[in-house]
Order: sequence, then C-alpha cells, then structure tokens
Amino acid sequence: MTPLKICYVSSEVVPFAKTGGLADVAGALPCALKEMNQDVRLMMANYKSINERKFVLREVIRLKEVKVTLGNETRIIDGKTAFLPNSKVHVYFLHIPEYFDRKELYMDPTTGKDFEDNAERFAFFSKATLETLKLLYWQPDIIHCNEWQTALIPFYLKTQYKNDDFFKNTKTILTLHNLAYQGTFPLEKAGKIDIPDEYIQPGREFEFYGKLNLLKGGILFADLINTVSEKYAEEITEQAQYGFGFEDILKSRKKDLSGILNGVDYSNWDPETDHLISHDYTPDTLEDKIKNKKELCKQTNLSFDENIPVIGIISRLTDQKGFDLIEEVADDLMKMDLQIVILGTGDPKYHKLLEKLQKKFPSKLSVNLRFDNKLAHLIEAGSDIFLMPSRFEPCGLNQMYSLKYGTVPVVRETGGLADTIDDFDPKTGKGTGFTFKKYSGSEMLKAIQRAIKTFKDKRIWTKIQEAGMKKDFSWENSARKYMDLYKKALSK
Ligand code: ADP
Repeated sequence: MTPLKICYVSSEVVPFAKTGGLADVAGALPCALKEMNQDVRLMMANYKSINERKFVLREVIRLKEVKVTLGNETRIIDGKTAFLPNSKVHVYFLHIPEYFDRKELYMDPTTGKDFEDNAERFAFFSKATLETLKLLYWQPDIIHCNEWQTALIPFYLKTQYKNDDFFKNTKTILTLHNLAYQGTFPLEKAGKIDIPDEYIQPGREFEFYGKLNLLKGGILFADLINTVSEKYAEEITEQAQYGFGFEDILKSRKKDLSGILNGVDYSNWDPETDHLISHDYTPDTLEDKIKNKKELCKQTNLSFDENIPVIGIISRLTDQKGFDLIEEVADDLMKMDLQIVILGTGDPKYHKLLEKLQKKFPSKLSVNLRFDNKLAHLIEAGSDIFLMPSRFEPCGLNQMYSLKYGTVPVVRETGGLADTIDDFDPKTGKGTGFTFKKYSGSEMLKAIQRAIKTFKDKRIWTKIQEAGMKKDFSWENSARKYMDLYKKALSK
C-alpha cells in the first residue's frame, strides 16, 4: 500500500512545548506512524519558549514571510523546520510574532487568565497550516487536528477552500483530548476569524449558549472525530458531567465517533532506560526501586522508611483531577500510615489548599508547586502508590507510566483510568491497581486503605507490581487503530 500522507497539527508537542498529555501524544503518535512507513509531518506554533538552537530549527525559504489573512487582518508568518528528536518526522514551526512571542502557551501569567486573543492566535495558526501545505506542495490525505486550537481547519477546508483542488482529496480527523476545553469566546470574535454570521446564529455550528464555540464547530465539520479512550467516548455522549453539554451534539455524530487509547512513549517512560531517575531497574531487579524511593524522600524532605508507603501525585491542579476529594478527607487520610508527594501547578485555589495542608502535615506531605519533568520521573520511580482520583479522565498517562514503574495506581473508574487499570481482587490474586467508582472522598479513602493494607504483604504486592509492569500500552497498537481510522475517513 502506498504510504498515507498525514499532517498532524497540534498546539503543543513534546519536547518542544508542553502543558499536558496532548504534547506527549503529539510527540509520539507521529513517530509510531512513521515507523509504519507512513509519510507523516507535524505542524505546530513556534513559541518563544522553544529553544531553536537546541532543536536545530532551520529556515525554509519557501516559508519565509508568508502572508495570511483572516477578517481584516493580515499577518506575516515564517515557517521553520526540524526533526522530531530521534526520528525522521519533519516538524514545521509556524511563527507569528504578535501571537507566539509570549511567556506562556495559552494563559497570561500576569492575570492568570487565558490570553484575550486566543481565538485569533489559533485561527491564524490553523489557516497558516493550510497555506504552508500549499507552499510545500505537499497534499495530505489526512489532516489530523487536535482540540479546539486546530478545530477550525475542517471548517476552513469545507468553506474557504471548498473549491481548491489542492485539498480536494484531503479528509480531516479531530481528536478530542478533553471536552472541558472548548475554545469559547464572545460571538463578536467570529468575524475576525472568518466565521460568517450564519454559522453563529442560535443553534448553528459555532454557537453554543450565546458564545462562539470553536470545538463545537470542529466536531460538526470534521470528517471523523475520536477521543483518547473507549470509555470516555461512551461517557461523553451519556452524561453532562462528562460531555460538558455536548452530549447531543456528539450523539448526532455517533457513527463517526470512536475511542482510541493513547499509547505510552516507552523511550521516555521506562525505568530500565530512564536517565532522569537515580537508579534504573527492571521487573527482574525490582528491589532496586527502593533506591529511587530513598532519593525521592531526600529530594522532597520526607524521612525514608521502607515500610511506609509513599503515594505520588503528578497533576495539573484543576477541578478535573480530584483535589476536592483530597481536601474532603485530608485529616483522615493523613492519619494513615503513609507519606504523600504532590507535584503540580494550576488553579491558585489548589495552590492555596495544598500549601495549607503542607503546613498542617509537614512531616507526611511534600507539596511541590511547579512543572518539573525530572521530579515527575523520580516520583514515578520512587513512589509505591500513584493516586489519580479524577472526576473525569479522557485517557490519563500517569497511571500507565505508573504501571511500567511498578508503582501501583489507585484510580477512580472513569474514562481511560477505567480502561487501563484492573481492580485487584484478593480472591483471584488478579489486578494491577485499586479502583473506586463513586466520586466521593470516602470511596477514595477506602481504595487507598485497601492498597495500604495490601502493601504490607510484600509477596502479593510484588505480584501486583509485576502484573502492571507486564502491561504493554506502546504506541504501535494505537497507531494501527489510527491507521484504520484514517482509512475510514478516506472512504467517506
Ligand atoms: P492531562 O493531559 O490531563 O494533564 P495526563 O495524565 O494525560 O493528564 O498527562 C499529564 C502529563 O503532564 C504527564 O506526562 C505528566 O507527567 C505531566 N505533568 C503534569 N503536571 C506536571 C508537573 N507539574 N511537572 C511535570 N510534569 C507534569
């Protein structure tokens, strides 16, 4: 079969720019597709924070000073290129100085709020992607869009570029990584990004509760849509707490909606080869894991005791991730024989909460309010248990990393967490973690109690660790499913 030409478009890509799991996926799936001999290229914004020297970005003559117009504005865009490290995947970095020479990707650090011009920033990026493809004379079979930031691409293709022969065989996929982020803006923004008035009338594609909603339009214009786990694909059509009001919109596209679990990039997340942890280990040298626990305790100011379980948490601090449950049962939780290390940044209200808890329980709790990839790896390696009590979780990566590191997950049964972690059953001895269903502090506490009780029995605990380490969530599997999805789109 001739290779498919796949253009993968993402607002963040590891290792260039990252705020969450999307970046991990965007840095890994294209490589897996390339390994399957597909012709895949990436498009991303060239943010100020990207180290052009380190990643050897090169100028592309054809992509110099490209004019892109939306509404009454024209922006000048410069495209550069580099390889995704350790791969042959070309990445194109589109630079729009007015929009991307900023400290953060989406949020203004001085106000703590989203940039006021985010709609224009990513609309220009989306249109620039299409113009870049034309200038490169590279006609993709598939444009794979992600999240609201690139959700305008299917719309532009079906409107502005409708009669453009260049794209006549191009199909679009939109992956929904998290429905909590929809790209909502005042309706007045529509004109600035070339969305004609008719599309923002009540009930139309880009209107949602009186606001401009870019994700809604993306869902309705993309040829196919998918989410990042099968369970989440079900949940979002069923209940408002998961679908964020999109349940009926998604139901209307049910035959075009599927779920494909994200994979894990084991070249970054494997204790056997991880350069960021203090001691490497494998399932055969699991006893060496304890050395990482010692180092973790040292680095996070906790006393080291082999017999006291360390619970790790690495998370964006948002309402999604279950910190209200931790708040609810903090006193009972901290009475238990355990230590907790938290790494995260996000909502100031959770920064305050965690600082308060840190003061109250200084010897048992270590709170680290920053983004720190190295510490994230050490937490995966050094913790005994990993806690993810999410309210909803489209896929979740850390629970899969935890399995690989022999760190036993305690998770709420939702979305990707439900699809990846099997509850331990003492009767059969089977299972890879401890799960709870209802979103409540006491249910979470019960699951943690079960985990801690089991931790005391080293023989059983090792069995659970080994079962987790054996699990294989490599990208190869998921990439194959994406290939099927692309073929389905092409046959539409
Ligand atoms: P989400 O995409 O909702 O943030 P995921 O579990 O899918 O959640 O992915 C989160 C990714 O971001 C993981 O790779 C995790 O290690 C990383 N991460 C989150 N917060 C931090 C932090 N404060 N420091 C380092 N890495 C972090």
